[in-house]
This record gives sequence, C-alpha cells and structure tokens, in this order.
Amino acid sequence: MKPFREFLIFERSRPGKIGCPLPELDVPEIDLTESLPEMVRDELDVFPEVSEVEVVRHFTRLSQWNFGIDQGMYPLGSCTMKHNPRINEAMAALPGLAGAHPLARPRHIQGCLALIHELQTYLSDITGLPHCSTQPAAGAHGEFTGILLIKALLDHKGEKRTTVIVPDSAHGTNPATASLCGFDVKEVPSDERGCVDVAKLAQMIDDQTAGMMITNPNTLGIFETHIREIADMLHAKGAYLYMDGANMNALVGKTKPGDMGVDVLHLNLHKTFSTPHGGGGPGAGPICCTAELAPFLPKPWVTQLEDGSYTWQHDCPDSMGKVHGWYGQFGVLVRALTWILTLGREGLVRHTEHAVLNNNYLRKMLEPHYEIPFKAPTLHETVFNDKRQQIHGVSTMDIAKSLLDYGFHPPTVYFPLVVHGALMVEPTETESRGELNRFARALIDIAERSASDPESVRNGPLTTQIQRADETTAARYPVLRWLPEQKES
Ligand SMILES: *Cc1c(COP(=O)(O)O)cnc(C)c1O
Repeated sequence: MKPFREFLIFERSRPGKIGCPLPELDVPEIDLTESLPEMVRDELDVFPEVSEVEVVRHFTRLSQWNFGIDQGMYPLGSCTMKHNPRINEAMAALPGLAGAHPLARPRHIQGCLALIHELQTYLSDITGLPHCSTQPAAGAHGEFTGILLIKALLDHKGEKRTTVIVPDSAHGTNPATASLCGFDVKEVPSDERGCVDVAKLAQMIDDQTAGMMITNPNTLGIFETHIREIADMLHAKGAYLYMDGANMNALVGKTKPGDMGVDVLHLNLHKTFSTPHGGGGPGAGPICCTAELAPFLPKPWVTQLEDGSYTWQHDCPDSMGKVHGWYGQFGVLVRALTWILTLGREGLVRHTEHAVLNNNYLRKMLEPHYEIPFKAPTLHETVFNDKRQQIHGVSTMDIAKSLLDYGFHPPTVYFPLVVHGALMVEPTETESRGELNRFARALIDIAERSASDPESVRNGPLTTQIQRADETTAARYPVLRWLPEQKES
C-alpha cells in the first residue's frame, strides 16, 4: 500500500479526479481581492527569518511564562487538571493518524474511522447511554449540542416547550447554553445538603418544561442522591434530563448516568479522559444519549457496514446537521481512547477510586483549618470557604494568591456561586501522597499565617517574579506584549 502522505499529494494534484462523494461543503467561495482588498498583499516588507535556536528559545520562554500541570499540582476544582500520560501523545503523533486528511476517502482512513467508532462504543459503555457523537469540541459545545438535541426531538413531536431548569450551583455554561438554544432559564435552589431541592423542583416542572440540566456529582462535589427520582419526575411531565458530565472523574466505572435516568450528557475528554487542556487548546465534548434522541445527533455518523468496514453516513434525515467543521477534534479523540485502553476496565475503576480517595485525604487534612460550608460527603472535589480567615481580614483571593509562593497553582475560586468565598479543590488521581501532603502543608501554613500575620497573606505572593497585580488595572488595561527587558522601566 502507498504511504498515506504520498496518496494525498497524488490526489491533490488532480483534484477533479477524486472519485469519492465529498462531504457537503456549504462554504461559499469568496474572492478576497474584491471583498477584503486591504487584507490581501502580494509582497512582504521583511520576510521573518529566525534560526532554529531562536525558535526553540522563543517557545521555551513562552512555555515558562505560564504554569502547567507538568510543573506542579494544579488543583483547579471542576476543571480536573490531571496528568496527560505521554503515551497519549505518542499515539496521537502516529503519522497515519496525525497526517490523515479530512477529505480522504473512507477506505483510506479505515483506522481513523474504526478509532472513532471504538471510542464512541467505550463512551457509551461508560455512560450507559447507547448513542454517541464525538463532534462537539468542548464541554460547553457538548451542552449546546445536547440541548439542541432535546429541542430537535420536541420539535419533531410538535411540542413547543419554553423552559429549562438549572440548579443554582450550576456551571455558568449551563444557563448560557439553555439561553443560547432559545429557552428561558428557571433556577432551582439547593437544599441544606447542597443538592437540588427536590420539593421545590417538583413545583417548578410543568408542561412548559423542556428539560433540566444537572451536574452529578454537582459542583460542590456532592452526589445528587435523588437523581433517579428527578429523572422520573421530569419524564412523567414529558421533559428530559441533561447531565453535565464534567465531573465524571468521580463516576467512571462505578456507576452509569444512563442507569440514573439521564437522557443525554456531555463528557469533557480534556478533563476526565486526561487529554491536555488549558490555554485555549483543543478539547472535546462528546455527547452520549438515549435511542429516542439519537436520530437528531450531528452528522455525518461513523457507521460500520455489514462487511465490517467503516464509513461516513451522510444520509441522516432527522440530524441537526453539523456542529463542527469536519469530524471533531480528532487528536483529542485519539488521546482519550489511548487513555481508556491503557487503563482497561479495572484501571478505570481504580482511577475513580483514587480520585475520590485523594480528595478525601486532602479534605481530612484541611478540615481543621478551613470551613466546609456543605458538610455532606464529597467525591472527587471539595469546596471550602474563607469564613475562618475572614475574621483576620484574609479573603479567598489572598489565600489563592499566596499559594503561588509555595509553587502551587491556586484552586478554583469564587465558584460555585452558592458558596460565599468558595475555594474549590480537586487534586485528581494523578497526584502522589507526597504531593498532597505538600499542598496541604502549604494551605495549612497560609491558614496559620492568616491568624499570626494576616498582612503578609494579604500581600501575597511575595516571592514570585511579578508581585500581586492590581486586578482592576490588569483587567482594564491588559499589557499583552510584555517583554522581560521592559521590567526595569
Ligand atoms: C469545565 C466545565 C464545563 C465546560 O466545559 P468546557 O470544556 O470548558 O467548555 C461545564 N460544566 C462544568 C461543571 C465544568 O466543570
């Protein structure tokens, strides 16, 4: 067989001869010289030319201006910042995968199609929801696709329902999604345990309710024990249950949202499934759903033919269409499948147990020093607040900034909104006990200094290259072209 790259060059040199039915392209051709003449240039004043070492130094320097999981613990609650095993990178870089062209004929990319199909099968297995689309590019994008899916089904049934219910502890993308999809958002309060107030919810569900978005475990790290009851209540009124699966790090291999009555959910491959994230890099937010919702999934679908081969199915009459160019963030899908296969069934269960154990180990160490507003047991993350430090005039922001002095990235702060001064810690399963101890010691030291020398915590960080920024000025007048030489001036 011809190497893949050679095939591409060959086909491109005779574009008229590509014999396969191309995916529909609804992008109009635009003549740039006419429509945007000022954007077109035919010569460069200076052709940028740099030596290899200059390029290496440039990117190495840039990489050091930020903090990443490769440098230390990154306990950003809800975001699940875990180690990205390097085997993921090795697999994603395989030439046949990294070099595959989206226009290649299915018979030339059988491996890629099989890979997507296999990943979808695993994700369906993990979630207990039999159908999957890997097209959405992020969690928020998955939410958007999932709520559109419910909308498409309701339209199909000729129902015009207007509202989506969202808990007050939800991630901001939930109400934003519902609103973007044209629904009115109704907020259901949390009860004293930190879970959805089921009695209040019962009063809110009516014949205008299209669905509810729930996060489980919720953003307090607490399992929504009434989720089955909530699903039944919604279904009884003809509404659907969307689950925000960003916290699946607490559930994988242990329990399945499909068994809880969830109709559709998104997964954050760049959180739970260990693919790298942060800095706006590519992620992926596949959605899994029930058979009832499946006909409306984004197209094309990857399907297996009777002879065992795979193809793109474009003929999906009820599909909502495309939500992403081409077929999703393929490189991220490769990494997620690699992670699943590396761990295997047993490994996935152990991964979840370690994520929950690490969090509770940390919680026990920190509990004597930081207030936990909702006392219910937590799974993979715990939300503390600054109540005990406020007595000394020290706030969550001061604690977060001071952590930089100890070499740690701060936890998520001031989220979820139901907790005043929230400090949301998620260690993930990839931190060692030694690292958890070091992190706890840092936070305990800050708690002690908050009592003995609050001024020093308020002024933190004290040892970093750049000291505490004036946040208002930083937000209003961001300096985006900072160079080390300018520091002196
Ligand atoms: C991260 C997150 C999202 C959004 O996911 P993105 O991939 O960042 O778009 C939604 N809900 C919760 C609870 C999250 O933690």
